[in-house]
Amino acid sequence: MKTRSLQPPALKTDLTVLCVSLILLAAVCNPPVFSQTREPTVSPCKVGVRAPAFGFWTWAANSQVKVFILAAHFKTEEIPVLLAPLESWNAVAEASSSGVKFTYAGSVSEPQYCENCLTIMRGKVYEKKTRHATKLQAYSVHADQIISYAEVVIDPIITNPEALKNAMVHELGHNFGLLDCFSCKDRSTVMNQFKVINFSNGMEAPTACDISQVKAAYEELKTHVRPSPMVAKVMVDEGEEPVDDDTPTVIPLP
Ligand SMILES: [Zn+2]
Repeated sequence: MKTRSLQPPALKTDLTVLCVSLILLAAVCNPPVFSQTREPTVSPCKVGVRAPAFGFWTWAANSQVKVFILAAHFKTEEIPVLLAPLESWNAVAEASSSGVKFTYAGSVSEPQYCENCLTIMRGKVYEKKTRHATKLQAYSVHADQIISYAEVVIDPIITNPEALKNAMVHELGHNFGLLDCFSCKDRSTVMNQFKVINFSNGMEAPTACDISQVKAAYEELKTHVRPSPMVAKVMVDEGEEPVDDDTPTVIPLP
């Protein structure tokens, strides 16, 4: 006798329902991806947080700047320390689109007032309130923000080689239009405040945000050249305090 295994109709229906249920459950547990998750757009180089503002003294795009050091002001072992930051900024000349390159032109006995000349020297410029011990002094033949020649003045209070290097990297930032950013986060920019004078702040080269701000500064230069910082200063109200503590000053005509 043939035996047939027959499933009762009721059970068949139950299995069908179970299968459909399982498929639905799988769909709920593994929903198909219809769109990619979008991160909120946050600028990584927000001015005042991770990036300095720009708009001050600037070497003309693609300048070849000759750099001199007042030999009598520095020890022999300090010379390479002063020159290293020039290379750090040279290394980002293309990335920042400034095209500005510094070339060491030797030691001198007095500041050099020639076109595209920068002299590094010592001088009493330390301000206790701001802990700034360096200053950029510049002159523009057209009374605009484009530097004709300049001096980086470093206070004798800075003797630590690392602090000296940090100070030079910072001052060169002022050579590209960058302003101080005391509210910026640590290590986000070389334009940050020095917390302790004559101690290293660990900043030896421009950051990604510094580079992007210099790029923005040179982009602006293509269409708009600002007046020199000193001319701009005269234009503001008498009672208005300058925001920048070490606003670069103008070298008087020799
Ligand atoms: Zn500064």
